This record gives sequence, C-alpha cells and structure tokens, in this order.
Amino acid sequence: MKLYQNLLDAMSGDANSREKKLVLIALEALAEETDYRLHRELMTNLTNLYFETNQELIKTLKKIEKMAMEDHLTHLYNRVHFTEMANYEVEKQKRYPEALCLIMFDIDHFKNVNDTYGHDIGDLVLVSISKEVKDKVRKTDTLARWGGEEFVILLPDTNLDHAGLVAESLRYAIEVLDVSPVKQITCSFGISQFNEFDDLNSFMKRADDALYKAKHTGRNKVCHE
Ligand code: GH3
Ligand code: MG
Ligand code: MG
Repeated sequence: MKLYQNLLDAMSGDANSREKKLVLIALEALAEETDYRLHRELMTNLTNLYFETNQELIKTLKKIEKMAMEDHLTHLYNRVHFTEMANYEVEKQKRYPEALCLIMFDIDHFKNVNDTYGHDIGDLVLVSISKEVKDKVRKTDTLARWGGEEFVILLPDTNLDHAGLVAESLRYAIEVLDVSPVKQITCSFGISQFNEFDDLNSFMKRADDALYKAKHTGRNKVCHE
C-alpha cells in the first residue's frame, strides 16, 4: 500500500526525476500488490505516462530531423538534404526513366550588396529570394540553398524546355522583386537535363557549367547545357 502511495506521489512530482523513480517503485509495487483496483490504477497511470513521454519524444525527434534538413537562415532545404533527395531521384531514373532537370542559380554581384548595405541586408535579400522562389516552384520540386548565395532546384518530370520556362519566370520574378533598400537584385541561371550516361556529379556539373556561361555572358540570364 505504501509503495502505491509513493508511486502516485512520484507521478505528480517533478518531471525530471519522475520517470526514474517511477520505474523502480512500479517494479516493486507490481510484485507486491494484490489489490486489483490499485493494480489497475497503477497500470493506467503508467500507460498514460508512457504515452506522454512518447509524444514528447516524437515531437523532439521531428524538430531535430527538421533542423538537420534545413538551412538555418532561409529555412530552405540544405545541401545535405538536397543531395539525399537528388540521389534518390537519380536512382529512380534507372528503373523509371523520366525527364529530370536541375536548375542552379546564383545572385549577381552579391558581394556588392553586402559591401554597400551591410551583411544584415544581404541576409534579408537571401531570405526574400528564397521565399519568392519557394512560392513559385511546384510541391514536387526540391529547392535548396546549395551554399552562400547559390541555390538549386530539382525538377522531376520536367524536360529542358519546360525547365527553361520555369527558370525564366524565376529570373523575371527576382528582377522585379522589391528588396528595399537594395535597388535591384538579379540572378544568373544554369540548367541541365539528366541523361542515361549521367550520375549526380555529371548532372550537376553541366548545370554549373551553364551557370558559369550565364555569368560570363552578361548575367541576369538563363543558360542551358
Ligand atoms: P557573381 O555575380 O560573380 O556571383 O558575384 P558575387 O559578388 O555574387 O560573387 P562572390 O562569390 O564574389 O561573392 C559572394 C558573396 O556572398 C560573398 C559572401 O560574403 C556572400 N555571402 C555568402 N553567404 C552569405 C550569407 O549567408 N549572408 C550574407 N549576407 N552574405 C553571404
Ligand atoms: Mg554571386
Ligand atoms: Mg556564388
């Protein structure tokens, strides 16, 4: 009887020490107690506690999982998660080949933005562009911050022509985006389409080469392989 009282006291006590204390007391109590009513009360309380703890654990795990996938500034997917998703799509190509495109884009003369307006405004530009692009891509596309002021979008079930239209509409949306006090922001875009000889590296390299071409032929434009 005393053990049960201890158990009930422990359950309403401090959450940190509670679980450890409970397990010990519960084991003793269950072994000794013969009163059916108290037995049932004990089991109900233990079950509730188990569910509460489990729910908290699930919530915490989800939070940690989200943090591991996200870029801390823009809340877009980060490079690690993008690579995971891209590897999955590339692997899928072997069994179910379909048009798969990649868009890479990079803010033009972003260093000037930081130098002129300061790093905080630079950060604001990164966040504004991220929001704008996220609103415009499909749910099935994977948008991520690749690093610094460079972004990537993986577009399943999309051919080069279609990806070109998407990139062009994003280019325009950014060109006219209001990111005061910055006068105008533009981005350069490179696109590639996955082919049967590709792996993820070669697929990304061709988008990167196209982006390089856009940068060196005037910026604020879309180039493809
Ligand atoms: P280009 O048109 O050739 O791309 O020129 P750029 O100035 O954009 O390229 P560069 O590589 O010279 O400079 C990139 C700048 O981006 C330098 C770096 O400080 C800035 N940058 C990278 N990450 C962040 C960030 O998280 N916040 C801010 N504010 N700036 C960043
Ligand atoms: Mg740049
Ligand atoms: Mg760059």
